[in-house]
Amino acid sequence: MVDLKGQYAHIQSKIDEAVLGVIRSTAFINGPDVKELATELSQYLGGTQVIPCANGTDALQIAMMALDLQPGDEVITPSFTYAATCEVIALLKLTPVFVDSDPDTFNIDVTKIEAAISPKTKAIVPVHLYGQCADMEKILDIAKRHNLFVIEDTAQAIGAEYTFSDGRKAKAGTMGTVGCTSFFPSKNLGCYGDGGAIFCNDEKLTAALRSIANHGQSRLYYHDVVGVNSRLDTIQAAVLRVKLPLLDGYSASRNKAADHYDRAFAASPKIKTPFRAAYSDHVFHQYTLTLDASLDRDGLENFLKEKGVPSKVYYPVPQHFQKAYNLRGYKDGDLPVAEELSKRVISLPMHTELDEEQLKFISDSVLEYVNR
Ligand SMILES: *Cc1c(COP(=O)(O)O)cnc(C)c1O
Repeated sequence: MVDLKGQYAHIQSKIDEAVLGVIRSTAFINGPDVKELATELSQYLGGTQVIPCANGTDALQIAMMALDLQPGDEVITPSFTYAATCEVIALLKLTPVFVDSDPDTFNIDVTKIEAAISPKTKAIVPVHLYGQCADMEKILDIAKRHNLFVIEDTAQAIGAEYTFSDGRKAKAGTMGTVGCTSFFPSKNLGCYGDGGAIFCNDEKLTAALRSIANHGQSRLYYHDVVGVNSRLDTIQAAVLRVKLPLLDGYSASRNKAADHYDRAFAASPKIKTPFRAAYSDHVFHQYTLTLDASLDRDGLENFLKEKGVPSKVYYPVPQHFQKAYNLRGYKDGDLPVAEELSKRVISLPMHTELDEEQLKFISDSVLEYVNR
């Protein structure tokens, strides 16, 4: 699905030099690269504060801890997404309240959020799924009217830009109360191990986030609140400093591959290609097709596998049906779009190194199955 070796080959000398530099300096923990990365990423994102941490799941947990969410508080989130969001909600003994998805964008359906709000609701966690922003202007408006926090999960959409109706633009992760991202190797800005970061525009909250990520300390050995130990390794920061200047080029390569797929499948009524919302650009963390109900998805996966073409289903079980998170007893049909998408989506290889020949082979293989 990704070609990390191919990508590394293009930047090998810079990466090797950066990693060796950290090893030679032995500044493994909180070395200068960590601070430098935070500054450079902050500039890239338009000035938002950046707090590096150990991974994207921690970023979400630290965000919810810093907002002082209490057991029993309700948090609204889409069901059709990766489990990390719900996992953190459940770990903190908050209650996940799932909202259905928009069948076109795959993101939280903003027209269904208000019906899910109760007096216990404290936050909305939109996930910018597959690389395209959720409809943030509407989400921010709802949050403002109901006095809710917005925690953006931008693990799949770093670099994507949202356009507000007045023309103002903002990067994914910088619009809500807090933004959370992951540098997992296969993410659009991936390091060579685990990594993550939290984004925040509010000074006081930024201080709380920093403190919680660092054992709840205000200064060394003074623990004001219960925190966690969540650091980005210096080696990972050094890798990310090499890759950050390449991120926009990587997004462009992904878009080029997506355009190829779009053209290949344009004439095929049984395959729905990814919708491009007017309010967000797309950084194609995934290129995800929605198959017509008449097509056998397992059959397609096996057919592709035999041809040596990887494919993957993100995600086969919506979160409201996961044993761990179905606290409210959701039943079949409660979130029909999420349930349908989980049966019909399939993602094709998407990364920065796809060439014309590979793209043609992949799309021809998909069409061969669909048209037979
Ligand atoms: C990858 C991912 C995460 C978690 O990131 P980790 O760094 O693996 O903890 C959270 N949310 C979404 C949507 C993700 O894709």
